[in-house]
Amino acid sequence: MRRVKSANTSPEIRVRRLVHAMGYRYSLHSQKLPGKPDIVLASRHKVILVHGCFWHMHSCRRGQALPAANRAYWAQKRQRNAARDKRNLRSLHALGWKALVIWECRTLNEESLRGKLERFLRD
Ligand SMILES: [Zn+2]
Repeated sequence: MRRVKSANTSPEIRVRRLVHAMGYRYSLHSQKLPGKPDIVLASRHKVILVHGCFWHMHSCRRGQALPAANRAYWAQKRQRNAARDKRNLRSLHALGWKALVIWECRTLNEESLRGKLERFLRD
């Protein structure tokens, strides 16, 4: 049987935990907003999107890696994701939301993640 990956170690949970520990309260996965942002701080008009490096084509090594099989399929699928991400960010901005994208690979260093979140959430 396949082991279920612990939800506690997912990038999104790492980000949520930190934001919560910093004293901010938020809601999750707003269906009403473009891209269904993972973390929504409605009173501040800010959202945080946690992106998996592979699915959203980050510029890091993991994001640029190509699977051995069905390369064309994956390339197309991921390009569509990346294009959609861009559209969603534009729509969020147009609606007056500030958005922060946190890449999966950037959630591993808690200190720098905390700094990034602090700068974004501060004002
Ligand atoms: Zn990455």
